[in-house]
Amino acid sequence: MKGICILGATGSIGVSTLDVVARHPHLYKVVALTANNNIDLLFEQCLQHRPEFAVVVDEGKALSFREKISNSPVSDITVLSGHAALEQVSILDQVDSVMAAIVGAAGLLPSLAAAKAGKTVLLANKEALVMSGDIFMQAVKQSGAQLLPIDSEHNAIFQCMPGGYIAGDTAEQARRILLTASGGPFRRMPIADMTHVTPAQAVAHPNWDMGKKISVDSATMMNKGLEMIEACILFNMKPEQIQVVIHPQSVIHSMVDYVDGTVLAQMGNPDMRIPIAHALAWPERFDSGAEPLNIFNVRQMDFEEPNLERFPCLRLAYKAIAAGGTLPTVLNAANEIAVDAFLNERIRFTDIPVVIERCMDSTEVKKAESLEIILDVDKNARILSKEIIAELSN
Ligand code: NAD
Ligand code: MG
Repeated sequence: MKGICILGATGSIGVSTLDVVARHPHLYKVVALTANNNIDLLFEQCLQHRPEFAVVVDEGKALSFREKISNSPVSDITVLSGHAALEQVSILDQVDSVMAAIVGAAGLLPSLAAAKAGKTVLLANKEALVMSGDIFMQAVKQSGAQLLPIDSEHNAIFQCMPGGYIAGDTAEQARRILLTASGGPFRRMPIADMTHVTPAQAVAHPNWDMGKKISVDSATMMNKGLEMIEACILFNMKPEQIQVVIHPQSVIHSMVDYVDGTVLAQMGNPDMRIPIAHALAWPERFDSGAEPLNIFNVRQMDFEEPNLERFPCLRLAYKAIAAGGTLPTVLNAANEIAVDAFLNERIRFTDIPVVIERCMDSTEVKKAESLEIILDVDKNARILSKEIIAELSN
């Protein structure tokens, strides 16, 4: 029986992970669940999965949560609070696998702690990897941690890699990755109309049901930009080896093109329980709960090149990875702040790339040599992005 810690248990990926884990109670024991502030859902999850530890990052919410737990049938659960508790539960001896499913930079420290502690890291939190690429991969290598991608595209690529492949290795015979993207809800909208897009329109993704931040990232295609960088890091490839392909049906989740001309694709319904179950069972397989793919319902599969004028965020991601160093950290931080401002109706949809580009252009690129440098650059990029937003919304 393996012990699992789920960072971000109350989010879209966290909920899907618990769904899969509950199908295999003889294989997985839930050791720890964490949430930022959704204590009602965390409480329900505690009643059902009976972890040893529950973390509520928000100190105020943690107080009421502790009270709720102490008056419940699961009063033996240890409730922790604050950011440091996330790292604490990630490295517990009884934890074998850590699902890194916190959204954004907040997930970096606990995900990295799990990697350093040699855990099996199931990585959904792409922002952490984009920020800290080399450092994260070094930590994995040094500790002998197992890194398994949860992002559906990267999980697909991993499945299409040669037998015995481990993340970070160079697969010599794989010459290219075809990274698929749905194109989001605005693939066909006249570009001029994109200025008027509302948060509600942006979070309504045609194929996937996800958290708000990644839904907006899918609409701007920054999600694909972050994923392109994620793919370079995970599969040790150059940006020019990664071709983004718009495939609106989301049946193929990505492809690997080999030197002999073979192209391997992974297919399935758009259900995150598939990559989650793949990583949980790896190197075996087990039931994910997802519907089998009905190939006869797939009437057509289309593939288009992305238009960088429509999706400037994708261009910015290529710019960030080409410069390297701390620029991907700046890209990520500015994006998180800009998306938040858009969701709070402080800037327009089309201002998101404007904020990011201005922030990138006014930041000196450094070598991403240490975690301290990365965290410092992240902090300053957030301050700068907020200033840019204040100017834009005046
Ligand atoms: P979500 O918004 O639904 O959930 C986020 C989780 O993180 C919640 O449990 C929340 O409590 C926690 N969290 C948020 N801010 C926090 C903070 N400051 N400190 C501690 N915890 C915090 O997000 P999601 O859609 O589940 O995405 C999670 C991650 O997985 C993201 O990095 C996303 O890019 C990635 N991902 C998601 C999907 C998907 O289908 N949802 C697919 C691929 C990758
Ligand atoms: Mg993805």
